[in-house]
Order: sequence, then structure tokens, then C-alpha cells
Amino acid sequence: MSWHFALVIDPAASDDRRTDFSDTFAPIDPTAPALSVGELSTQRGDGIFESIGVVDGHPQEVTAHLERLAHSAAICALPAPHLDQWRQAVELAAAKSPAHGEGVIKLILSRGVEHGPAPTAWVTSAPAADFTGPRRDGIRVVTLDRGYALDLPARAPWLLLGAKTLSYAVNMAAIREAKSRGADDAIFVTSDGFVLEAPTASLVLRVADRFITPAPNGGILHGTTQLSLFEHLAEGGESTAYDTVSVDMLRSADAAWLLSSVRLAAPISSIDGREIEVDAALTASFNDYLLSPRD
Ligand code: PLP
Repeated sequence: MSWHFALVIDPAASDDRRTDFSDTFAPIDPTAPALSVGELSTQRGDGIFESIGVVDGHPQEVTAHLERLAHSAAICALPAPHLDQWRQAVELAAAKSPAHGEGVIKLILSRGVEHGPAPTAWVTSAPAADFTGPRRDGIRVVTLDRGYALDLPARAPWLLLGAKTLSYAVNMAAIREAKSRGADDAIFVTSDGFVLEAPTASLVLRVADRFITPAPNGGILHGTTQLSLFEHLAEGGESTAYDTVSVDMLRSADAAWLLSSVRLAAPISSIDGREIEVDAALTASFNDYLLSPRD
């Protein structure tokens, strides 16, 4: 990985009245060791993160990402992040990104070091992978059982569903399972037959002239890219909806996409081995919009 930049943040309390947080940022060598061996993020995955897409030096949808960071912190009982401090850190990282091309800025807020400073926080910036192929040609997905029913999040909030935690081992395992089945990505479904999300992306379907996404009722992450695309579609007079989506509805959709901040809109070309038509023109218009500067 050829990094652009990394910095460690000394997290400010959410009611800190300062307006300039530059003296709380310590740029570090992103290729050198930086974390304490007592870090609870590495020992237990106990922390939260955000991945912000950067296009030609512009960080996309920063406010939506910061709001979701605060939401994840609340779910995980982590100290509320000072959003102006994090915004200034993102601006600094974006200023270090190349003026051309795509990148990714990651924000990490960890529970901290056992018996040491807590919480700990850092920001990294790196080039994005090249997603031209998936955006144009589409991705094959398989549905994978997430192992719980749709009503679980309300019954078991301690499972932290709906927070973007650092515990992504299950998500990565699902992608490996999808690849071992000859696909590119996975879509999680509940044990009672409803569609949730992909391991690192939201799902949007087109059913007749309506765009539908599974309702973020606590069990899934509310995607910033899906939110932004729905606003754009609604402005263009299209009909959008949050709904409970059954697996049958997914399989009979006219078109479907996985949406995320860095890969952007990847059209789905097959579900569980059954082909589904890729709408190349519509997908290109989605990605043109998603690559334009968005705040
Ligand atoms: N759902 C999960 C589980 C994710 O990890 C992600 C992004 O990483 C998304 C959805 C899409 O969110 P966003 O559009 O904000 O990148």
C-alpha cells in the first residue's frame, strides 16, 4: 500500500470550545509501527471507523460520515467524537491527497489502550483500488445467511448491529465464502428470509420504476452512498423507498446495485448464479453523480 498520509489525533471532549484543533494532530510515518501493543482496537476489534471516498482531492459526504461516526460511538458507548476536530483532521488528510484520482480517508476511533490513554484515534489516507471493472461490468453475488431474524437488533442491542465497528472478521469471511462459490461479493439475508446488506456495501434494487433499499432498522449500516444517491434520484423526480425486502423480491428485481463510498455503484450481474440485467447507462449516470463533488 502506498500511503498518502497518517495522523494521530488526541481526541477532544465533545464540548471543547476551541475552534482550531491543529495542535491535537500529530502526523506520523504511515509505514512505521505506531500503535501500542495494549491497543484494544487490535486486541478485540473494540472501536469504530469510517471510510470516506476522495475524488480529485475532495472528500465526499464528510458530514454524513461524521454523523455516522457519532452514531456508532453512541451505540458502542465510546466518548462522543468532537465533530469539528474530526472535520479538521479530514481536511488535513484531504489536503495531502493528490489533486487527481481516487483515494480513501479512514477515521478510526478506538476504545484505547488497556490501562493507558483512552480513547485513541487516528486518520489515514491512501489511494483507492481501481474499480473501473466492477462499476462497468458488474459483480456476481451470492446470498449468505446472517444467522439471525429481522427482529434481532431490537431484542439484542448489545450486538452493536447498525454501528460501523472495527470487528469486520465476519464481513471479510463472508466475502471469502462468496469467492469460494465463484462470486465476487455476498448479500446477507436473515434466517427468516429478508435481505440486509453486503459485507461492505448497501443494496439498492429497481423494481418497475421504484428504487428500493432495505430499511436501516438497526440491523444494517445506513450507507452514506445510498442516502446520497436517493437524494439525487428524488431530486430527479424518481421514486425511492425504504422497505422490508424479501429474498424473493431481490431475485425478481429488474436491476440491483451494491453501493459504497469507495467502490461506488457496482451493478449486480448475477444472484446465486442467476443472471440479472446490468443497466449500463443508468449505472454510468449513478457513478457520474457519485464521482462529482458531494458535501
Ligand atoms: N454496509 C456495510 C456493512 C458497510 O461496511 C458499508 C461500507 O463500508 C456500507 C454498508 C456502505 O456504507 P457507505 O455507503 O457509507 O460506504
